[in-house]
Amino acid sequence: MNANHFTSDRKLAPYWWETTPRPLLDASRVPETVDVAIIGSGYTGLNAALQIARGGRSTLVVDAEEAGWGCSTRNGGQISTSIKPGFAELGARHGPQRAYDILKEGQRSLEWIAELVAAEKLDCDFGVVGRFHAAHNAAQYESLARSIANQPKGLEVPAELVPRAEQHTELGTDAYFGGVVYTRHASLDPGRFHQGLLERVLAAGATVIAHCPVTAIDKDSGGFRVVTARGTTKARAVVVATNGYTGKLTPWLRRRVIPIGSYMIATEPLPAAQMARLNPRNRIVSDTRKVVFYYRASPDQQRILFGGRVSNSETDPEISGPRLHVEMVKIFPELGRTRISHSWCGFIAYTFDELAHIGNHDGLHYAMGYCGSGVGMASYMGMRLGLQVLGRTEGRTALDGLRFQTRPLYSGNPWFLAPSIHYYRWRDRQGG
Ligand SMILES: Cc1cc2nc3c(=O)[nH]c(=O)nc-3n(C[C@H](O)[C@H](O)[C@H](O)COP(=O)(O)OP(=O)(O)OC[C@H]3O[C@@H](n4cnc5c(N)ncnc54)[C@H](O)[C@@H]3O)c2cc1C
Repeated sequence: MNANHFTSDRKLAPYWWETTPRPLLDASRVPETVDVAIIGSGYTGLNAALQIARGGRSTLVVDAEEAGWGCSTRNGGQISTSIKPGFAELGARHGPQRAYDILKEGQRSLEWIAELVAAEKLDCDFGVVGRFHAAHNAAQYESLARSIANQPKGLEVPAELVPRAEQHTELGTDAYFGGVVYTRHASLDPGRFHQGLLERVLAAGATVIAHCPVTAIDKDSGGFRVVTARGTTKARAVVVATNGYTGKLTPWLRRRVIPIGSYMIATEPLPAAQMARLNPRNRIVSDTRKVVFYYRASPDQQRILFGGRVSNSETDPEISGPRLHVEMVKIFPELGRTRISHSWCGFIAYTFDELAHIGNHDGLHYAMGYCGSGVGMASYMGMRLGLQVLGRTEGRTALDGLRFQTRPLYSGNPWFLAPSIHYYRWRDRQGG
């Protein structure tokens, strides 16, 4: 694989930006006063803004870059229940009732996103397409089979076991050892979803200003002075919705999220017969490796959109693209000569307990740390956070009040990641 494997017009930018170009917003200065200032214009920030503006508060959303520039227009558009730890692990940490409530909240987030798309008439190719979760070895297949046969009471989800012999009905590969279809998992077009949300937020009366980094937040009588590159605004409340891009502005939060690079490529358009062979049921796909790969067809079903973690912090898509291509060809050898039309990356936010966190620290409201599963969860937490800012009881979640952990000496630069990713890759190869 070399640079020639890119198409001649290849773009080092998200595929979604081609189909939904980044919106042009007024390049105005920020208003002198607002009720609520929201930092970050991704799914968290916009869903919070929608609630807050409709709740009658003057609302300002600012982003350091273009609106939606972060993960919210870079992701794979795959939606699950978004809680990584299982019942046993959560139960050991928080007790069985809290474990149940947290997992139920994840299930609720998946149901809610379908309701949101329908209620707001968001034209974003949303579909309950089902996820094929593939086993990367025989032991993992057995483990998947056991986990769906022994689902915790009250938390059962529909799931269909697919043995290796029948795998081609789901996916055109022999690379896996069978898998499970989670029939309720969904997909959408992340760029169009973001654009639809943005339009609803603007229609609700909020102001959204792009290219407006916040450089300081100072406490002031009755609220905060929010200093930005486009002036200073006095806000009664502030929401921090910066997730994997959380920086020096909020050092307490920065110490609690671990930014990790996630990478994607789009292939050039493929013949319809080949797409039908590779992904006959138009599923979203992931696998059991700890260093996971995830992929799907583009909404027009002409391309494979393939993602995963091929580096910790590489920011050059010219380098990450060919590495992803190598991984894609291991699964689909017939794509060996297929070229890459788009290559891009973004920074997700991991947390030390693998759970999202929502709350208020030192007067600042926040929701973040979706651990790479934020299409549903960031949207849902943003909505709940907006209700919390309004002081409404419906804003409560099962994730409220969880201790937001950090580690001694961790300041926001994940020096420990390189060795741990190498360890997980090694473990994946050993069959763990
Ligand atoms: C390649 C990739 C694939 C993914 N695939 C999936 C998937 O298939 N399914 C899934 O569920 N999740 C996926 N995710 C994760 C998901 O996209 C995120 O969890 C979600 O979008 C987070 O939304 P957010 O609004 O919290 O943060 P973001 O969308 O990242 O927005 C944060 C914003 O804050 C802004 N900001 C930061 N600092 C400042 C400042 N000082 N002033 C002003 N603005 C600031 C940034 O510019 C940024 O736009 C993926 C992520 C990536 C990168």
